[in-house]
Parts: sequence; C-alpha cells; structure tokens
Amino acid sequence: MPFTTLGLIPELLRVLSDQKYTEPTPIQQAAIPAILNKRDVLGIAKTGSGKTASYVLPILMNLQKAVALKNRHVNVLVLVPTRELAEQVKDVFQTFGKGVPVPVKTLAVYGGVSINPQMTALQGTNVLIATPGRLLELLEMNSVYLSSIETLVLDEADKMLNLGFKEEVNKIIALLPEKRQNILLSATLNQDLQLIHQVLLHDPLVIKI
Ligand code: AMP
Repeated sequence: MPFTTLGLIPELLRVLSDQKYTEPTPIQQAAIPAILNKRDVLGIAKTGSGKTASYVLPILMNLQKAVALKNRHVNVLVLVPTRELAEQVKDVFQTFGKGVPVPVKTLAVYGGVSINPQMTALQGTNVLIATPGRLLELLEMNSVYLSSIETLVLDEADKMLNLGFKEEVNKIIALLPEKRQNILLSATLNQDLQLIHQVLLHDPLVIKI
C-alpha cells in the first residue's frame, strides 16, 4: 500500500519521498487514516516501527485549520519520557512541517536545562513536546495554557510509567479539555497501562505491531 492512499496532501508526499520514506510501515498504514478521522489510537509498537511519523503526519494535517485561525495556545501536546525522545519527535515534526502550507511551530521542553528560554519560546507554539516534570513546572509558573489542546499523545508510555512519571502524567491529563483526541503509544501493555488506556481512550483503534 503506497503513501498516496492514506489521505495525505501532495506536498507532504513530496517531503516523504525526499526523506526516502517509500512505503508506509504497518503502524503508519493503520494509524494515519484513523488519526486523520480524529479517532483515538492505541499503538503497541517499538522504536523502529515508524511510530513517530504515524502520528506526526496526520496531526500536522489536522492542525492546519486551527493554526490558520491563529489559535494562540498550544493545540497538540506530546508527552515523552526523555529529553532525547523529545528532540527526536520535534525533529520529525519540523521535517514534515515543511510539507504543510500553514507553518506549525513546534517546541520541545524538558528538565536538566534552564527553564527561562523555554518560557520565552512557548509564545505561539502549536505543538508542545514535553517531559512531564518540566511541563508541570511551566504550568506552575503560568507559562503555558492547556485549554486549547485538541490532541494528546503519550509516546513510550510504558517507559514514562517505569521512570515513575505516573502521578505527573495524571495531573497533566486532569488539566486538559475533556473533549480531545488521545493517542497512546507503548512497546508493551502492562497492568498500569491497561488502566490508563481504559480511562483515557474512547473507542480506540488498537494496533499491535
Ligand atoms: P520510529 O519508530 O518512529 O522511531 O522510526 C524509526 C526510523 O525509521 C526513523 O529513522 C524513521 O526516519 C524511519 N522511518 C519511519 N517510517 C519510515 C518509512 N515509512 N520508510 C522509511 N523509513 C521510515
């Protein structure tokens, strides 16, 4: 199945081919149309499966209207366990962001570095990629508003729980608008995650790779 059948615009297809993405991986084939349709998704998939592009591509498409309307708050929140993953996800958003007509501003925030430049950079951010602890710090300083979040992604959710971020993640979720799209990605599905996905996801498409 080629990328052309998945509902992506020609400019994005061009960037995909520039990046040598010739054919969608299985998770991309299943997740892209579902996320474009605003469905919740549970993806059980490891790094290397192409999981990042499986949500980045449809999210960039879905965001176009909100960004064009100059919505000044963050529209998409991606929670990740580590700084490395935050930077990787940001790079994928920026690479494919070149293939959508309305520019999307992406920012990665994480602990271990100074918070002040992150506070300044938040201005006008559409897609925020964050580790849970740093996001809570920014929230406590009233530097970020979550009232316009339309889509929440939990990437490497099992790792996030293993690193002890459960309470932080729950606190953040409680601050989000109730009506939103949820995407949960994890290499494994343990008992804790079963519970999270039962409260978080509504009629999700379940993809096991
Ligand atoms: P991920 O599983 O998202 O960490 O992606 C693993 C690697 O596969 C990254 O280096 C991607 O650039 C690459 N990749 C993802 N999807 C495709 C695809 N459809 N074709 C070729 N490479 C891909």
